[in-house]
Amino acid sequence: MRIVIDGQKVPVNVRVSRDLLMTLKAMSQTLHWRITYDTANELVYIYSPNYVMPGSLDRPAPVIEEPASQRLLGKIICLDAGHGGNDPGAIGPSGTMEKDNTLAITLLLRDMLENNGATVVLTRDSDRNVSLPDASAGEELAARVEIAKDSNADIFISIHNDSFTGNTAVGTTTFHYGDPQSIKLAALVQKNLVTELGTKDHSSRFASFYVIRYTKMTAILIQAAFISNPEEEVLLSSIDGRTKIAESIFQGIVNYYKV
Ligand SMILES: [Zn+2]
Repeated sequence: MRIVIDGQKVPVNVRVSRDLLMTLKAMSQTLHWRITYDTANELVYIYSPNYVMPGSLDRPAPVIEEPASQRLLGKIICLDAGHGGNDPGAIGPSGTMEKDNTLAITLLLRDMLENNGATVVLTRDSDRNVSLPDASAGEELAARVEIAKDSNADIFISIHNDSFTGNTAVGTTTFHYGDPQSIKLAALVQKNLVTELGTKDHSSRFASFYVIRYTKMTAILIQAAFISNPEEEVLLSSIDGRTKIAESIFQGIVNYYKV
């Protein structure tokens, strides 16, 4: 990602992290900077309050305050970034890993939810195992369910990438474990995902994945796209694609609560 301050490119190429984005956001609020993101080109534009935009030489750039909505106030949402630590999940043809994509999408989604008043609990917020690194796959999944239970979450969302032998399989699927509320949320999230991403619609459907089977609240598991397909791998690993996925899930939650 490159940073452009008052029209001047900063001569460093930085790795995007939640810390960096949160720091920029906090600084922009206290210093009244205006920040815009060009996600397609991985550019962040920062304008100081006194910067005069070319073409509007008589007045400084307006300060735009980020709208803070409280429409999800009181909702507790547990987000589960699939895999992590010594479990990379599926690996794409170019070597990108499911665990990195799921975490990045989860962190973007967390910010969107928190900006709208929700309380967000994460099963992991970094590249690590949720239980101990030497735990079995079953213990790892049980640890995730335990966090959801302890958080008293209203909604549990597990985020994954799909994968298949060969590279031709494509598309999006959202799973539920059959209760009416989860069926409803899965359908809404699925609809937003395929509309926004333009991916093949495998529809929302029943599945018995451990994390949605043993969580007692409304729970869904999202296979956002196929990391085993080169085009969908790009979608999953780009800032633009990850943002679209996070926005679609966010919109599904908003639709679910009709807020
Ligand atoms: Zn997975």
